[in-house]
Amino acid sequence: SLKPQKPHVAMIPTPGMGHLIPFLQLAKCLVSIHGVQVTLFVPASETSALQTLLSSLHLPGGLTLINLPTLPISDMDTDLPVHLSITVRESLTFIRSSIATSAHPPTVLIVDMFATDAFDVGDAFNMTKYLFFTSNAKVLTFIGYLPRFDQEIAGEFAELTEPIPVPGCKPVRVDDLDDYFRDRKSGGYRFLLHHARRFNEATGILVNTFEDLEPQMFSALKDGKLLEQIPLPPVHAVGPIIRNPAPLSSENECLTWLDKHPPDSVLFVSFGGGGRSLSAEQMVELAMGLELSRQRFLWVVRPPQDKVVISANYVAESGGPNDPNGYLPEEFLRRIKGKGVGMVVGGWAPQVEILGHAAVGGFLSHCGWNSTLESIVHGVPVIAWPLHAEQKMNAVMLTEDLGVAVRVKIASERGGAVMGREEIERMVRLVMEGNQGKALRSRMKQLTDGAVSSVSEGGGGSSYCSLAQLIKKWKL
Ligand code: UDP
Repeated sequence: SLKPQKPHVAMIPTPGMGHLIPFLQLAKCLVSIHGVQVTLFVPASETSALQTLLSSLHLPGGLTLINLPTLPISDMDTDLPVHLSITVRESLTFIRSSIATSAHPPTVLIVDMFATDAFDVGDAFNMTKYLFFTSNAKVLTFIGYLPRFDQEIAGEFAELTEPIPVPGCKPVRVDDLDDYFRDRKSGGYRFLLHHARRFNEATGILVNTFEDLEPQMFSALKDGKLLEQIPLPPVHAVGPIIRNPAPLSSENECLTWLDKHPPDSVLFVSFGGGGRSLSAEQMVELAMGLELSRQRFLWVVRPPQDKVVISANYVAESGGPNDPNGYLPEEFLRRIKGKGVGMVVGGWAPQVEILGHAAVGGFLSHCGWNSTLESIVHGVPVIAWPLHAEQKMNAVMLTEDLGVAVRVKIASERGGAVMGREEIERMVRLVMEGNQGKALRSRMKQLTDGAVSSVSEGGGGSSYCSLAQLIKKWKL
């Protein structure tokens, strides 16, 4: 008898490590756990971080990566949603002809939230279309609600005096929205709205979250009333889908440094894959605050905001743009090295391996969603210092809904001033020593248990089962 062919899924992420990493991880999971064939289109990128990631991947048979051609897009300075969306648009012709010439054409298409224009390709080949949303269900609902808001609200969002009532969750404070929402003519806003309007072309939306993390949101999503107000297709929690730690401890300077320290004694400091960074002035205050706290720290520094370029190379060559010696006080670097209390690395660090290390007991984080999931899975409490995109909404979830983080004062509470060193010192001590830190850590460990069991195959975890059910449909 003929063996039924494996379903073949084409996946279209956007550039940016925060989008690519979960796409790669979902692809691997579909192939190795669920026996699906996957073709993933990899955006052209020169960054060494991506190259390292790809070369370290053990690609299971059944997962094919197709590199997209480099694009002549010069203006990297635009809002991130614009940059990501245009990159996808410019790649569609290539993707279309690649699918047209495939020996075993894909029948299912999974695209990023900024890649809904690829639905046109799905339609051309009669594919079943899905979205993989690389943030949480609350943010998805908020963005899904945007087309309706856009009609109902006349002025700018920034002028609203009341929090925005989003069905199914706590009202969203205007202060917790990204800058795009302050200007409805901005490219960032227009592109978000454009994609949100296309969300309901998908047969379903996969979200990198788990039901127990956002129980209220999921009961609302299952209750038809929410969906009457927000035109979203069925939403499936399939996460947390994050990278597993790789066994690289012997070669990596961060991990060998961590090996020297007792459990839960080091604060990890990182602001993500490079979309935004701190101002030069703020960076110096952070350096001083960390030193004042007298806690051990491992800090991955990116160049200050005025020097950041999207998709910058992550290599920290000495004298290069990522070399911390170029923008952190020399005295500070000398002192912390001398005392052995801190380690500063420029560019890129193996974040998952670091968060998984026993010595790490706290994470000062920009609250990108992948970083958030990684700290949940590894049980590390957070000092939330959100910068842009949906990070402020994630920070609210961690502090107010889940109680596993403390949040630094927001800019309006500081009157726009930089966060002072004493305030930073206070937050660091709060999480790293004393009872409040212990309480945060133990609540975080409870979330860890929920996260791990939701993706467990044997235990019939909710995320595992959601994905398995979807794939069953693809096999029909
Ligand atoms: N990351 C890493 N090393 C770094 C910086 C980031 O491995 O030095 C990884 C991090 O573990 C996460 C992703 O890059 O998986 C960043 O995604 P996130 O959503 O947290 O933030 P974004 O970069 O999108 O702002």
